[in-house]
Amino acid sequence: MDYDDGNIFARILRGEIPCKKVFEDEHTLAFHDINPQTPIHVLVIPKGAYISMDDFSTKASDAEIAGFVRAIGKVARDLGALEGGYRILSNNGPNAHQDVQHLHIHIFAGKNLGRMIKPADK
Ligand code: AMP
Repeated sequence: MDYDDGNIFARILRGEIPCKKVFEDEHTLAFHDINPQTPIHVLVIPKGAYISMDDFSTKASDAEIAGFVRAIGKVARDLGALEGGYRILSNNGPNAHQDVQHLHIHIFAGKNLGRMIKPADK
């Protein structure tokens, strides 16, 4: 699958639609999810055109990967999520119900998140 630069996060990166930004640097943007599932629900995305973790982990530069991982940690820290704890999650592909075809990491925090995800039907 080729990257579709009409996806919603590509449009946010180009400034065509607004977001509630919490962090930005050379390689990474983080913003509040428009439909938060927890009191704190932030998305962290690489600025490069990567569909998925597979795409990112195989094609991104070491600087992009390091910057992205460090940004996830910093955003969670700056959100005040360290003491109570937080969960990071990334949906990749159809079985994971990835809706936006630009790699993104969800940060969930601000309440007891329960134990992992509910077991899927076997
Ligand atoms: P996923 O199922 O992992 O692809 O999740 C996509 C996430 O993007 C969902 O949690 C949506 O609420 C979120 N989302 C979609 N459009 C926007 C937007 N314009 N700004 C912020 N978050 C968005």
